[in-house]
Amino acid sequence: MGSIFNLEGKIAFVTGSTRGIGWASAQMLAQQGATIVLNGLSSPDLLRQRVDEIRAIHDTDADGLLGDVGNPAAIKEFYAAIFKKYKRLDILVNNAGIMEDNLLGMIGLQNIEKTFRVNVTGVILNMQYATRLMERSQSGSIINLSSIIGRFGNAGQIVYAGSKAAVIGVTLSAAKELAVKNIRVNAIAPGFIDTDMVRQLPLNRYDETLQRIKMNRIGTAEDIAKAVLFFASDLSLYVTGQILGVDGGMLI
Ligand code: NAD
Repeated sequence: MGSIFNLEGKIAFVTGSTRGIGWASAQMLAQQGATIVLNGLSSPDLLRQRVDEIRAIHDTDADGLLGDVGNPAAIKEFYAAIFKKYKRLDILVNNAGIMEDNLLGMIGLQNIEKTFRVNVTGVILNMQYATRLMERSQSGSIINLSSIIGRFGNAGQIVYAGSKAAVIGVTLSAAKELAVKNIRVNAIAPGFIDTDMVRQLPLNRYDETLQRIKMNRIGTAEDIAKAVLFFASDLSLYVTGQILGVDGGMLI
């Protein structure tokens, strides 16, 4: 009998998956036998390298789709390619996201529009296309990456917080709409995770945030990938509409 994590025969699409949480999640799902469709934003070489790594290390198939989740035409093409090759989709991880910090007085319209286009519109459109495929098999799991900032806010992060709070609303509403089709929709709200996204922070902000983590360490991309695996696998077959904080106790 296969393990309860077993994802053999499943097709998983992970956006923004050539580094950080997306890459760790893709590897975690591949380790359990899922076929992985990776997505990279701009570097065909890096994407090809990641596809080769998945194939070589995890003995499962992988593909790579280059394109911007902030571009609706690109999203449409992702799903045309997935349909053409696999005719199905079982797992969608809406991971791609951007963060640009600014105090209220400095926020530019372009920053608001770009952040919401990638972090929110991209999530909604990916869910729309993904569910058209998932409906065919009357099953599926969608995992959206929100953030602790979307639940509790942070000075200097109004735009990012707004976009990640929107991901929560989007997740809860989609879960209600799609439960009847046996499609689960959940979100993960990571705390402070060691990826390129937070490495750009000034040292004082980095130290300050670290001090708020009760488990006394920054999270790893693998800490989040484990939660992705939970929502992707049969371990969570009866779980939908949940926002799981994975933050080392930042808020307790
Ligand atoms: P990261 O910057 O290391 O990785 C983000 C990935 O998304 C990159 O591969 C990037 O190329 C890709 N991406 C960005 N814009 C894209 C676009 N328009 N189209 C396609 N791909 C795009 O960041 P990460 O820490 O791995 O973040 C992953 C997700 O987790 C994000 O949604 C982020 O908001 C969320 N998150 C991260 C943290 C953290 O502490 N690192 C905390 C909370 C939430």
